[in-house]
Amino acid sequence: METAAEPRPAELPLPGGRDGAHVSLHPLLTGRMSAPRSWLLRSEGRRAGRRPFGIGVAKQDLVEVPVPAFLVEHPGAGLILIDTGFHPSVAVNPRQNIGRVALSAFKDTQMEPGQAVSAQLRERDLSTGDIRVVVMTHLHADHASAIAEFPDATFIVSKREWEAATDAGRRHGYVRRQFDHGFDYRLLDFDGPDASSFSGFGRSFDLFGDGSVRTVFTPGHTLGHMSVVLRTKGPEVLVAGDAIYLRETLETSHLPYRVEDEHLFRRSLREIAQYRKETPDALIIPGHDWEAWQALEAEY
Ligand SMILES: [Zn+2]
Repeated sequence: METAAEPRPAELPLPGGRDGAHVSLHPLLTGRMSAPRSWLLRSEGRRAGRRPFGIGVAKQDLVEVPVPAFLVEHPGAGLILIDTGFHPSVAVNPRQNIGRVALSAFKDTQMEPGQAVSAQLRERDLSTGDIRVVVMTHLHADHASAIAEFPDATFIVSKREWEAATDAGRRHGYVRRQFDHGFDYRLLDFDGPDASSFSGFGRSFDLFGDGSVRTVFTPGHTLGHMSVVLRTKGPEVLVAGDAIYLRETLETSHLPYRVEDEHLFRRSLREIAQYRKETPDALIIPGHDWEAWQALEAEY
């Protein structure tokens, strides 16, 4: 399908890499939603019925989930964002930005105007124009919602994800108007010869060539999903994105109700488990786990 965006292959390394660089990481909460527990962890059997979509779900079975973005400071490359969280308009009128279909399993979108990444940057005396690079774990509506806020940034997306998002529609969780802009989109081809293995992960890219920010391919939740490994001064951090909604997803390999490709999802789970085995001190941040979110520090 025709798109306004004309993505090009990413040319790595991106500028600004420094030998031995450490980044600092600031997890940002941009809003919250609630979801039926059986959406996050599927209930087996026919009786599960339509409950994953919130039909016939008692209020006490709804689980609150964070909608995060991550601000990363690199000593040479400047400010990087991982995912964009909710657009400021979601605080006023969620349907305008997200529509009704893309996040239909999620209810009660809640956002304060000050929670938008742009507002949180202003609070730090920064502006959206200071963000040089935005790494998108995937293009689902709760992650891509605020892309329009960063017209000057270079967006790093997996090639497979771009194809999936532009082929598929709202029923797969994508909202084209969120990402279809003439911005500088750069695609990572995890199927190409330049991807290399890293720890438990079969395919990865070292974005700045200095080992400080790596994207690792974790498809399954979507066909082109990727997670991000950060070398901070503290623990190594895996921003897992929706490769795992919850810590429990990793602990028990209990799948969520909906995955785009179950085989790929299980393989990515195994790779994350292998990474954890090889890097037991790493902090693994799941995509939508309220308890795990509350346990995070303000900065790493
Ligand atoms: Zn998602």
